[in-house]
Amino acid sequence: MPLDLIQTELGRDRRELTERVSELNARFRHHSAHDVMHGALEEIDDLALVSSFGAESVVLLHMAAVVDKMTPVLFIDTQMLFTETLEYQQEVSERLGLRNVKIIRADDEDVQRDDPYGALRLRDMDACCNLRKTFPLQQALLGYDGWITGRKRFQAGSRATLDFFEVEDGTGRIKVNPLAHWAPEDVRAYMEENNLPRHPLVAKGYPSIGCAPCTSPVKQGEDPRAGRWRDQNKEECGIHFVDGKMMRAGENT
Ligand code: SF4
Repeated sequence: MPLDLIQTELGRDRRELTERVSELNARFRHHSAHDVMHGALEEIDDLALVSSFGAESVVLLHMAAVVDKMTPVLFIDTQMLFTETLEYQQEVSERLGLRNVKIIRADDEDVQRDDPYGALRLRDMDACCNLRKTFPLQQALLGYDGWITGRKRFQAGSRATLDFFEVEDGTGRIKVNPLAHWAPEDVRAYMEENNLPRHPLVAKGYPSIGCAPCTSPVKQGEDPRAGRWRDQNKEECGIHFVDGKMMRAGENT
């Protein structure tokens, strides 16, 4: 097909996707996070939930389990995670009855080639996140029409206008953010009301949890995410894109 025809087709696809997302946002504008989760799983054919099984992940996982325990859950194991996270992933999956958790890892050959000693992060954190998170997730999401994230407006300036539904740049997928409008108190209240298990590191001073080498405890009064990539000019792993650019802000999923 000639290039100009391909570009026309792509433009039309993008327009249709944008219209669909606008319609979904208008329809669910005044609805609850649970309604958005339920609606998204009904309306979007192949939808996966991407979870880090971090400090707040259990909320979204619980909502998905209430709607459908077969919801595909993609868990990115960077092979740099805390042992507590790996154990928590098993505990939460069993307790919520999630029956379709897929563990995503970087390709062994890629790791052997680019980061055989696990030291890539010391000279290039973005390259390490790209190798261990972004690329494996992109591969895992091929074939899905959309994915559900736990992102919230309060987490970062770049998320201040976050909607329930978004077009993901350059992929033709829809991103769903059921908790977009939630405040930290809503997250806490939901966990308490539903008696959900907390990540064990939260009680040890980790309000936001990523890879072990890149996460440190947070002191009282510090931003909850101050322990992520502390003292580095980096705030996000790069699995989220806005206007085609890798975003560097907030908890991943
Ligand atoms: S958070 Fe740190 S260890 Fe984990 S993938 Fe990114 S740079 Fe590597």
